[in-house]
Amino acid sequence: MSLIVAKFGGTSVASPERIINVAKRLVSIHDGGDRVVAVVSAMGKTTDELMGLANAVNTNPPARELDRLLSTGEQVSMTLLALALEAMGYKAISFTGRQAGIETNGIHNKAKIMRIDNKRITDALDEGYIPIVAGFQGIDANGDITTLGRGGSDTTAVAVAWGIGADVCEIYSDVDGIYTTDPRICPRAHKLDSISYDEMLELSSVGSGVLQSRAVEFAKKWGVTIHSRSAFSEAKGTLIREESAMEQAVITGIAHDTSEMKVTIRRLPDTIGVAARVFSALAANMVNMDMILQNTSLDGTTDISFTCPASDLGRARETLEEILPEIGANQFDVDEDIAKISLVGTGMKSSPGVSARAFRTMADNNINIQAISTSPIRLSMVIDAAEVERAVQLLHTAFELDSDSIFEETQLSAEEIADKMKKGR
Ligand code: ASP
Ligand code: MG
Repeated sequence: MSLIVAKFGGTSVASPERIINVAKRLVSIHDGGDRVVAVVSAMGKTTDELMGLANAVNTNPPARELDRLLSTGEQVSMTLLALALEAMGYKAISFTGRQAGIETNGIHNKAKIMRIDNKRITDALDEGYIPIVAGFQGIDANGDITTLGRGGSDTTAVAVAWGIGADVCEIYSDVDGIYTTDPRICPRAHKLDSISYDEMLELSSVGSGVLQSRAVEFAKKWGVTIHSRSAFSEAKGTLIREESAMEQAVITGIAHDTSEMKVTIRRLPDTIGVAARVFSALAANMVNMDMILQNTSLDGTTDISFTCPASDLGRARETLEEILPEIGANQFDVDEDIAKISLVGTGMKSSPGVSARAFRTMADNNINIQAISTSPIRLSMVIDAAEVERAVQLLHTAFELDSDSIFEETQLSAEEIADKMKKGR
């Protein structure tokens, strides 16, 4: 008999029919002899709609009131799910964040969980109920309702799983697991059986948005195994857990991100303190730099490039126009048509030659690399945006990730797989 936390995202509870399906799913776990606690997100796009309502009456809604409002979305879905279970003849009981004992700090809209007291959940389990917890919310020391940031129900699920000592935290969504790369771009992509926390964190930070990063960080810290799987099929998904001792592929997955742009500052005086001034000014203006590279200097000046999210472009321009004249440089250019490709894999730590193989693959196919950055388990390259799909496909093959097992396993067409991979829960 296992103890399971089963979290259902917004898409999985988007309509009464889908809520009934979730109820059936819970019943089958329960009837199979396991004990199960459900965690739910708000129905469909409810959270966005609630934000829209708030903004319609106040363009700058106070965070405390906004949290009060947003928390209601999950309270609707938890109650409907309890009603559906009761209608099927099962004992169910729903809990808000407060009732589930989730205590947070007081940072509204992005609160952190500080303490969990899951006694009501475990008591309910002992009495034969299926407990249902509202995701995304908690209570602060003042007794005010807080929310955990967008996508925060994942974090609730992991926290509850840890709190009650569950064997696994199942996260059901419209995505059926973690893939080696985006199947819409590379039809040879295949679903991974398992992935380590660190790999998952690198993949989510480079744009594979299947799980909230904070949930993965929490899971890593507290050793909670996550099972990311589809709410619409019985197929096994991907386990996210401590890396296994088994022999690993060098590369686990390839992510790409076209949301960044590259800024190059020309002819900066190559003297001590210049980079510090430029980058302090950018940071002070909330420009989120990712990669930074400086060329060797010629005639006492040098070029520095950095990448940042396209949404920061306005602030980057503003800052540079102000600071560059002060330090005797006044030219910068912006390249918006770039893409970042990241190879991620714990196996990299023990296999030399990953960069060489990646660079060779790009060179042999006439793709220019504009910038490079690394972490112990990630290699990222900036290339021309027009080449991104081709580069992902080439690297997928070069690192031996190609497989058609997904077609054998699921009998789905590339379009159907792509459809299942659609972002958002
Ligand atoms: N309903 C919240 C959101 O849309 C929390 C979640 O879905 O995890 O962000
Ligand atoms: Mg959601």
